[in-house]
Amino acid sequence: MGRKKQIDTSLYFCPYPDCSNQGKVGSDNQIIGAGRYGKQKTQLLKCKVCNRTFSARRGTPLFNLKASEETFYDVIACLAEGNGIRATARIKKVDKDTVADWLDKASQHAEAVSRYLMVNLHFEEAQLDEFWSFVKKRKPAARPWRSCRPSMATTGSG
Ligand SMILES: [Zn+2]
Repeated sequence: MGRKKQIDTSLYFCPYPDCSNQGKVGSDNQIIGAGRYGKQKTQLLKCKVCNRTFSARRGTPLFNLKASEETFYDVIACLAEGNGIRATARIKKVDKDTVADWLDKASQHAEAVSRYLMVNLHFEEAQLDEFWSFVKKRKPAARPWRSCRPSMATTGSG
């Protein structure tokens, strides 16, 4: 206590694929601050499970995001549930350009984002696979997202 404000490590996760702790976030995510390095004073974090350190930029897919990661993942989750960009923008009260931008960011880090969604928001892998393949088919920026259309919803009653 009485020290400098620590970053909120609960939003970060271990980026090493061979670590059993990979992708886990939250207050019991076993990630701790491990000082800073370099001119930019990049925050270093350490995974207590595998004992490796990593840059805070590496443990999160969100580079230069002007919003909280919770908001980001909230929006991505909404998209992954089959909502279009417009619908998501409305539901989450986020600008639709921002939603589109985040979707691009997320798809560039699909693995990490999937991991987060599965671990923390209990998405199923198959659901996310469909989501990403849908995202990848989407042409960047040029055409409007078909709003309010359930993405892949072949309504198989199972
Ligand atoms: Zn680890």
